[in-house]
This record gives sequence, structure tokens and C-alpha cells, in this order.
Amino acid sequence: MHIQKMTQYDAAPDLLADRIIMVTGAGAGIGRALAKEAAARGATVILLGRTQSRLESVYDEICAAGGATPAIFPLNLERAVGDDYDRLSGAIESQWGRLDGLVHNAGILGARTPIEHHDVGDWQRVLHVNLTAPFILCRCLLPLLLKSRDASIVFTSSGVGRGGKAYWGAYAVSKFGIEGLNQVLADELENKPNIRVNAVNPGATRTSMRAAAYPGEDPARLKTPEEILGVYLYLLGPGSRGVTGQSFDAQ
Ligand code: NDP
Repeated sequence: MHIQKMTQYDAAPDLLADRIIMVTGAGAGIGRALAKEAAARGATVILLGRTQSRLESVYDEICAAGGATPAIFPLNLERAVGDDYDRLSGAIESQWGRLDGLVHNAGILGARTPIEHHDVGDWQRVLHVNLTAPFILCRCLLPLLLKSRDASIVFTSSGVGRGGKAYWGAYAVSKFGIEGLNQVLADELENKPNIRVNAVNPGATRTSMRAAAYPGEDPARLKTPEEILGVYLYLLGPGSRGVTGQSFDAQ
């Protein structure tokens, strides 16, 4: 796998003007920062996440900053069923008739433990939220993405999804799966120039997930979510047209 590094991107203020972009896990961490930045650059953002109050506070912040009015779609990806996904695609179809960007950002860490002792339920939960839910979202939203003149799907990978590391269990395996899904989907869509599919590894970023994974680490030494958004903006904007099936490092 060839990894490209993009730590900075000089994004135009109106880079994402008139684009409808969905960010999963938009209530906290990287997804929250990305949702606000995308709105600041002109996008109408669909905020999907588990905790409604967090989505509402992102909504308020976007409106207060003068961004296009976002949409909130509370959805627990661990429990969502067919009807929930139908409701989501139906709502986007009726309101906009298309989707221009889909950022699969929501994720959970799960237990980090030897495979020998890995709890089976925890394994299934992590695989479901981190890998199966992005697959289902792609499956239900592809018809809307294919109606866009310039659509971009961004998956979220990790360093442990590119090289196996002891005790990272289901989380690492789910991210390996994401890299696979990225490649398979990009290959299937290679004759459709209006849609691209890529994966981003954010790298060590100051969020609650990182703090849970590395409790002894000084968060002040890490990049903030706001500092790693360049590659996401590049992939969502028109400048990456034709770039597909690639894996990027944000740091
Ligand atoms: P956070 O834990 O800060 O945020 C994760 C977001 O995902 C939260 O908003 C959370 O919702 C949401 N989420 C979790 N489970 C579900 C669910 N079942 N349904 C809907 N939404 C859910 O994580 P980060 O911002 O750090 O991580 C974002 C992505 O980046 C993840 O995919 C992660 O694996 C990846 N990553 C992060 C790195 C880092 O150093 N931070 C490094 C490498 C990869 P809620 O607000 O309800 O908690």
C-alpha cells in the first residue's frame, strides 16, 4: 500500500460552497472540528452522531459563525437498523436530491487486549461501528452520491490499520478492513469520474479517543483536530477530482 502524506492544504474560503457533506461522529473530536471547518468553507453539513446534545451544540456553533444551516441526524451506528438507514437516505433525497461528500469518521476504540483474551461481544461491536456501519452507509447513500456532479467519500483509517500491532485487537482489524473497503469500492467506481473514494489516517490527535488509548501521554504535545484537517478539505473539495483509491496520512 502506497501512503501519501498531506499535512497542509491551502483551502479557498469557499472551497466547499454549495456542497452537501455528511460527517459521522460529528459531535466530538475530529468529526466535530471537520464539520465546523466544512461549514465555514461553504458546505451544508449533515451532522450524524450518537449524542444529540453534542450535535446540537455543533449546530449552534456553525450557525453562530454564519455557516449554512446544518442538519442534525442522531443515529447510534451500533444499533441502527434498515429503517433508520432508509430514513436517512429518504431525508437527504427529499431535501437535497443528492450528496456531495460522505466522511466516515465515527469510531470506537474497544478493549485493547491480546487476541487470546479478546471479548467476542466487544469484537463484534467494534467491527460493527468501525467497519460494517461505513459499509451500510455507503450502500444506502451511493445512489445519492452518484447524483452529485463531484462526490467524495472519505474513510478514516489508522496507523494500526496499516501494520499489525499487538493488543490493538478489533480496532486494528476494523481499520485494516476500512483500507480494504476503500480499495474495493474505489476499484468498483473507477469508471465513474464524478466520485472518488479515499482513506485518511489522522495520526495522533488530541481527542478523547486518543486520551483513552494513551492515558499517560501529555495531550498538549499532540496536534489538535483543527490542525489536521487539510487533507480532509483537499479530498472533499474539487482539487482532488480524479484522486481515488488512495490512502493518506494527515500528519
Ligand atoms: P472521539 O472519540 O473523540 O470521537 C468519536 C466520535 O464518533 C464521537 O462523536 C462519537 O459520538 C462518535 N461515535 C462513536 N460511536 C458511535 C456510534 N455508535 N454511533 C454514532 N456515532 C458514534 O474520536 P476521534 O475524533 O479521536 O476519532 C475520529 C476517528 O479518527 C475515528 O474513526 C478514530 O478511529 C480515528 N483515529 C483517531 C486518532 C486519534 O489520535 N484521535 C488516530 C487514528 C485514527 P459521541 O459524541 O456520542 O461520543
